[in-house]
This record gives sequence, C-alpha cells and structure tokens, in this order.
Amino acid sequence: MKPQDFPKEIRPYLQPSHQGRLIYRCLGCQAEFGIEKLAYVCPQCGQVLLIYDLNSDRLKEISGELWQRIFDYRRMLNLDALKGIYRYHEFIGPVIPLEAVIYLGEGHTPIIEANPSLQDKIGVRFYFKNDGQNPSASFKDRGMASALSYINFMLQKGYLSEVLAICASTGDTSAAAALYASYLPGVKSAVLLPHKKVTPQQLSQPLGSGATVFEIPGVFDDCMKIVEALSDNYNVALLNSKNAWRILGQESYSYEIAQDLEYDLSNAVVVLPIGNAGNITAVMSGFLKFYEAGIIDVLPKIVGVQSEHANPVYRYYLEPDENNRKFVPLTVKSSVAQAAMIGNPVSMPRVIHLVKRYNKLAGGSKTFFVEVSEQNIMDCELLANRNGHIACPQGGESLAGLMAAQKRGVVDSQDVAVLDSTAHTIKFAGFQEMYFGQQFPPDYNITPKRDLINTPVYVHPEDLDKVPAPGRPLAGEALDHFVKRVAAEIAGMLELKKV
Ligand SMILES: *Cc1c(COP(=O)(O)O)cnc(C)c1O
Ligand SMILES: [Zn+2]
Repeated sequence: MKPQDFPKEIRPYLQPSHQGRLIYRCLGCQAEFGIEKLAYVCPQCGQVLLIYDLNSDRLKEISGELWQRIFDYRRMLNLDALKGIYRYHEFIGPVIPLEAVIYLGEGHTPIIEANPSLQDKIGVRFYFKNDGQNPSASFKDRGMASALSYINFMLQKGYLSEVLAICASTGDTSAAAALYASYLPGVKSAVLLPHKKVTPQQLSQPLGSGATVFEIPGVFDDCMKIVEALSDNYNVALLNSKNAWRILGQESYSYEIAQDLEYDLSNAVVVLPIGNAGNITAVMSGFLKFYEAGIIDVLPKIVGVQSEHANPVYRYYLEPDENNRKFVPLTVKSSVAQAAMIGNPVSMPRVIHLVKRYNKLAGGSKTFFVEVSEQNIMDCELLANRNGHIACPQGGESLAGLMAAQKRGVVDSQDVAVLDSTAHTIKFAGFQEMYFGQQFPPDYNITPKRDLINTPVYVHPEDLDKVPAPGRPLAGEALDHFVKRVAAEIAGMLELKKV
C-alpha cells in the first residue's frame, strides 16, 4: 500500500523517526554506559548488560490501541527496513536509522495451529511458531539483524571501521552471524564451533557464507570461554547473545505473538527451550515492554524447557525460596536438543533479574521451568512432524515441555500455547536418521519407538534382471516390463485395489 493511502491519523507514525536514548546498564552494579562503544560486560564489575531506553516514557504518550493500529498498518507498508523485526522499531532499536537496517527476510514467521487430532492427543489448544522459517533457518537471525544493523550504524557514523565479528556457537548462531556479516562489506566473521557437536548442515552454513570456521575440542561452554578471552583482549565484535543487541532483536518474537493473537494474551502460554538463555531473556523482555506501553494488558505465561542432559536453569528454579536459590553450572551430557546443550548459560543473571520483574508485574507466578527426557524430545519432534509441522529437536522439546507443564498443572484446558520451534527440522536430520536407523549411542538414552520409525523401501523385484541406471536408460519392451513389474510390486505393498 502506498503511504498516501493509509488513514490520515496513522500516516505520521508509519515511518519511525529515530529518537530513543539507549544505554547499556549493568545487571550487577547498575552502572550505565553509552552505546557509542561495543560493550558486552560491565567494565567495572564484569557482569552482563542489558540495553535500556532512557526515553522510553515517550512510548507511553501513544495509547496502546494506537500502537496496535500502527503495527497492524505497518504490515501493509512496502518499506524494506520495516519488513522484518523493525516493524517494532521504537521498541527494538529506536536509535538505528532506517538507512542502517539490515533486512534479509527475518521475522514474521508463521504460527501454525496444530491439527485437531494432535490437539486432542495433547489436550491443549496449541500452535507452533516456526522460527526455522527465518533466512538461516533459526531464530538467531532476529538477533543478528539487530546486532548487524547496529554495527552498520556504527560503521556509517565512523565509530567503527573494519569489523571482525566472532562468536561461539552450538551451530545456529554461527550460521546466522556468518550470513548477516557476509552481507555487509567491511565486516568479516570468524566462528568457533565445538568439534563434532554441530550438525553437518549447520557446519556447511558458515562455510558457505565465507566465514573463517574454527573447530574446537570440547563442548559449547569451552568455545564460549575462548571467545570471551578473544573479546576481552582483542579488537573484535562479539556476536553471542552476551551482546545485548542480540536480545533486542529477539524481542521481536514476543511482539509478533502479541500481534498475531490480536494483542489478547489472556490465556496465552509461550513455551520455549533454554540453552544459553538469551532467547527466554528476550521473550520476557519483549512482553514486559509491550505490557508497560499498554499494548497488551496481560503478560502470558512463560514455560522454559530444558533437557535432563543440560538443565542448569531448571535446577536453579527447583528451589522454591528465592533467597536460597544458587546457580550451579553443570557438565552437559549428549542431547538431541544440541542447540541448547549448554551447562553455564551466559544470560542466567538476566533470567534471574527478568523472572523477578515479570512475576512482580504479572501479580503472581507466570514463569515456569520444566525438564524433559531425551526420549520425549525426539518422540515429540517426530510426532509433531507426522502432523504437518517442521519442528526441530528443540521444537520437540517445546512440545514435550508443554506436556510436562500440563502434568504440573501449570497449563489448563482454557490455555492457548505457542510453542517455539527454534530452527528448521532439516538442520537436525541426523538425529532423525539415528532414530529411524536405531543407532543412537547409549549416552543419549533414547530407544526408538516402532510406530515412529520410518525408512525408505528399495524396490527391485528379484525376477527383474534389467533395471535402468543413471546414463543407462531402458527402452521398448524392457522399459514396459520394468514399469509394470515395479508398479505391481508397489501396489501389492500398499494393498491398492484395482479400478
Ligand atoms: C540457540 C538455540 C537455542 C537456545 O537458545 P538460547 O537463546 O541459547 O537459550 C534453542 N534452539 C535452537 C535451534 C538454537 O539455535
Ligand atoms: Zn557492573
């Protein structure tokens, strides 16, 4: 739709002007720093940071209802910079001028209602929100669009030149970082991956985008330590979710849910996996911002899910008394939710901070943490995908988490759940292959269920001596015979009736 065709009262708000006053604030000592410099931790106490808008009160000058209409009308606006996460520009990065926005097609991923038979089976109304439909096939693109738009802004302003962007990754962060960095001239990227702990598809992504890829012995937590050493001592731009700009971009996930549910979140439950805890940080932060601006009037329930093999956040919240909780990093075991296989989540202080605020503003406990077995994760992924979804193992973890939350009485029959499928299933095809081939190493603790196994059937009737091969086609009678014979074989196996 052309700008002049929008209603008069909306036109002044269609294109955001950049006007916030963003600062980093330390979660430890509350110190504040300007955003003209890249910063990841507090220079005074070393704690992680979050970005705040000192002018956020101006957002309240516009009524919640008007905000809703602005976002709804922006859906029809043909402006690249506002087609992705920056539809919510005022809430995500109000200092970023539209000329600096990097848009590669991220965000506004569909929410797909489960079919009636799957909903009956689970006993709750639910949707998958498919973040695997982002450009690099995971939700990490939301955060990268924000982090790289910020870097682009700094480059344009002359605050930065020649950036080397680095990250540690369980696979998807590096795919997203490499993709977005490759789009920006002047930015090179290097990624650190735990050797053999990312899938072949995930490894191929940064390689294809031209990043320098390092494989490191150990698990993600070890790579993270090395990346931290590099960012503490050298001139690099850190793209892990320690970088608070990533969090801002990932808030878009909450804004989209709010908008897709017509801003009525009274019965909503958002279920998502937790690894480094950047995503749950962003999701809580996003809902809080919309709530404070009056755009939503209820905070949805949040269910954070972890595998039994990597569950430090779940364990932390097992202790009911807030004052007795103690965070203990742990050594992870092999997990099919490999992208969330993290024992020492960087954003834990942010989670602790935001959970308190969230429940306080919600007027009661609205954040919950559950753990699920590896078996449940795999079974749920396959079950979902046999019902029209494209859930990754972490999406399976969300479904398993919904069931666990139901069992705990956290979710009831009135509720409508939105499950985060954080990546596309094809990134994790190897786990499906291990399941179908009954080849899981014992440390995963997974026994494939017969009725979920699916394998290809090779059709080559024994009495058929001539079959085609690439470059050696059959013709004439041999071809006729081959077609008839194989068709009959398939019809027999499928028990087809003759017409
Ligand atoms: C990164 C990632 C997670 C974990 O998200 P955090 O922000 O690290 O908690 C889950 N699923 C997928 C597919 C991921 O790439
Ligand atoms: Zn500090």
